[in-house]
Parts: sequence; structure tokens; C-alpha cells
Amino acid sequence: MVGLNWRFDNSYVRLPEAFYARLGPTPVKAPKLVIFNHALAQELGLKPGEVAEEALAAVFAGNVLPDDAAPLAQAYAGHQFGGFTMLGDGRAIVLGEHITPRGQRVDIQLKGSGPTPFSRMGDGRAALGPMLREYIISEAMHALGIPTSRSLAVVATGEAVHRERFLPGAVLTRVAASHLRVGTFQYVAARRDMDGLRTLVDYAIERHYPQLKGSESPALALLWAVMERQVDLIVNWMRVGFIHGVMNTDNMTISGETIDYGPCAFMDTYDPATTFSSIDHGRRYAFGNQPGIARWNLTRLAEALLPLIDAETDKGVALAGEKLEAFDELYVARWAAMMRRKLGLSGEDAGDTALIEDLLGWMERHRADYTNTFRMLTVERDGEGIYGGEVFVAWRDRWRARRGDHAAARLLMETANPAYIPRNHLVEAALETAGKGDLAPFNALLDVLVKPYKERPGLAAYTEPNPEENYRTFCGT
Ligand code: AMP
Ligand code: MG
Repeated sequence: MVGLNWRFDNSYVRLPEAFYARLGPTPVKAPKLVIFNHALAQELGLKPGEVAEEALAAVFAGNVLPDDAAPLAQAYAGHQFGGFTMLGDGRAIVLGEHITPRGQRVDIQLKGSGPTPFSRMGDGRAALGPMLREYIISEAMHALGIPTSRSLAVVATGEAVHRERFLPGAVLTRVAASHLRVGTFQYVAARRDMDGLRTLVDYAIERHYPQLKGSESPALALLWAVMERQVDLIVNWMRVGFIHGVMNTDNMTISGETIDYGPCAFMDTYDPATTFSSIDHGRRYAFGNQPGIARWNLTRLAEALLPLIDAETDKGVALAGEKLEAFDELYVARWAAMMRRKLGLSGEDAGDTALIEDLLGWMERHRADYTNTFRMLTVERDGEGIYGGEVFVAWRDRWRARRGDHAAARLLMETANPAYIPRNHLVEAALETAGKGDLAPFNALLDVLVKPYKERPGLAAYTEPNPEENYRTFCGT
């Protein structure tokens, strides 16, 4: 493509052929650019300004391939709600890896780009609403300081996709550090391909953990490194009330980025049992279950890596087990450090855990809004309603005594407690108007969400919790 300034260097396609299927996107009828992320394009060193809008639409619909692209669908497996399945990109194509001006390697992936050998019963396509939803939530997550895939563009296809009814189709361009998942390792391990597994470990280390090169046991070192990043990621999710909704092992990255914004949503009232996904009947992926699920998924990664950890299974199990055993302690320590930040507490005090737990318990009993409660404490707004009650006032006095000077604490708290999160009803309303061709509310919401920590006048409506209590989200849309 003339002008866009791609710098492709495609390493995945140099991996064994069993790891992917080579094919391109299926062209669409009438591509039309719906939204383009200029700030991200600039970070990537792309120059869209020199390209006509129709040409951009053609590229980000998959109708025109960049010169050095090596498109492919990745093969992977995964435990979906606990059950193991062989999978793969059923509706996504990785065009290749672009090297940014800062030397970072990122996957450029089109989602909703047509059928692949891994599509099973699916049509390989995506609807406009869910792609715009991924766009706005992933960009909000990035602005919140949480590792995530990014969204570069959404293009309407001019074709209808059939779900429960006919919906306008769209393609999302997703940018990620890579799309290596726990499920990628499970796929290679399930094929009993030991050479492939070794190659994949080396590849993951080269791409995401180069400091581990030359480790005595690369597989074990990788397991620990992924665990640390995943712990940090989940702690970040817990910090802002994010519920991923479908933490299957195929949706858990090796890089430690959040990917696959399907049924995800942000929690309003604090309740660890909060689950929005309409298919998650057992609440497997509830807010409070996320750390436990991350550990469960890492155990699946350990199983896949086992033959490389030690030739003797018992020894491998013991070595991997040691790492996995450390998960809870690591998680609790990092979670507590995060909660101290949310409460503006410097240093550590023996009473901190009780102080934190007492607040959370109170919030749960009074159905307090998670975001607004911490924000109120951050700016020391006077409490009204439930915040005027005796128990809360007593807790607040205790907290103030431990916290000390407000100004110093506030600096800490302002970086941990967003004023603005993607409130579910606002996202829905913005998507509905966008579906009718009016992107103004969507863009207004996006503007608010890309600066989440700085309270601005006139934006009070963006801090209101969803008045609808039974919000539901849907998968695979
Ligand atoms: P997800 O829940 O989005 O992670 O998707 C799980 C699996 O289903 C992945 O392998 C997807 O590629 C595949 N999939 C989801 N939707 C479709 C679709 N419309 N057509 C083909 N494959 C799909
Ligand atoms: Mg997925």
C-alpha cells in the first residue's frame, strides 16, 4: 500500500506449518471507514494522512493487502468453560507483524475478515455493534493504564451478518503484542509435537521475555514470567472493576495483555459474584473468580509445558507445582499493594488488610458503586445517602487516621481510581445511535474515556451507574 508506511517483518509465518493456515481475508462488498484511531496510527508510525479514505477502508476491510503482509489464521486450542477443544482463528486473520518506530513488534489482525479452516459452524464475520464495543472498551482499558490489545479501525462491510436477526457487518483492526495464548501451547502439546513445543517456547521468550534467553529451564522460566504478568493483569482488572467474561485459555495471552472483548463489562455496584455474560450460568467468570481462574489457566499452561520442564513427569509436576503454589501469595501481595494505592496508603501497616476488607464488605452490603466510592474518597467529597451512615463514617475516620495527609494520598489515589469507566448503559446507548449512522455519542463517550483519571466539569452524567440492574452481555457476536 502506498503511503501508509507499514514496516512488516513476519516471524510467525516462519514457525512450523502446523501452527497456522495461510490464507487472506475474504473481500467485502462495500467497505466504509466507520472510525480510525489516529493517535494509535501515529504511535505505530503509520501515515494515514497521505491515503484517501476509500483506500484506508479497502485496507482495513481486508480487500487490499499491504505489500509485505503474510496473512494467516493461527491454530490454537483452549479450555472453554472448562472443556478442551481444538480451535483456531475462525474469523480473524493476522496480516503480519509491524515494527513500530520504537522497535516494538505488533500483530496487525483483522477480526471479522471471513471464514478460515477453523471457522467450524461460524460465518467468519462480525457485526458492527460488537466491533465498536471492542474498539471503545479496549481503548478505555489502554487509557486506564491496563495492558491490552488496541483498536486501530472499524470498517463497515456493506454486508449483512445473520445472528438472531440481520445486522450490519464490520471488520475491526486489532493491534496486539502478539496473539500467543495459553491455548497456543495447548494446541502444540495436544499434537505431542515436542520439537514444535520447544520452538514455541523459544519463540515466546524471544518475543516477550528476551531476558529469559539462555535460562537453565526455559519452559519453567516462561511459566513463571507469564504468571507474573497475568497476576499484574488481573490485579489491574480488579482495580477498575473489569470483568472479562470469557477467560477461556484461548483468550489468555502469553504477553499479559487483555484480549477478546466479547461479553466483558465493568461492574457498577460492588459484588464479587457479578457476572454479565448471558451464557455463564455457573458464574465461572464472575468478578471475584478472576484470580482463581487465572491460576487454573496457568495450571493448563504448566501441563502443556510439562514434557519440557522435566523428562520425568513426576519431577516436572513437582517443579511446575512449586511455581503454581506461589500464585496465591504473589496475587495477594500485589492485590494488597494495589488496594493501598486505591486508598492512598503509604508503606504497610498490620491493620491494612482489615481496613480494606471492611470497606469492601460494607460496599457489598450497601450495594455501593465501586468506582464512585473510591473516587469520592480520592477527592474527599462529603458523603451523602449511604455514605452518611454510622458504620461508614466510623470506617472513614479510621481510614483518615491511617492515611494521614490528604494531599499526598490524593496524588497516589488519583492514578488508581478512575472517575470515568465505560458504564454499560452509556456504551449500549452509544452503540445504538452508532448503528443508525450517528457516531456523535460514541465519539463523545470515547473522548471522556481516554482521559479517565481527570475529573472534568460537565461530565457528571458519565459517572452515573447503570439504572438497569440486570444488564446482560453476549458471546461470539
Ligand atoms: P471467542 O469467544 O471470541 O474467543 O471465540 C471462540 C472461538 O470461536 C474462536 O476460535 C473464534 O475464532 C471462533 N468464532 C467466534 N465467532 C465466530 C464466527 N462468527 N465465525 C467463525 N468463528 C467464530
Ligand atoms: Mg478468542
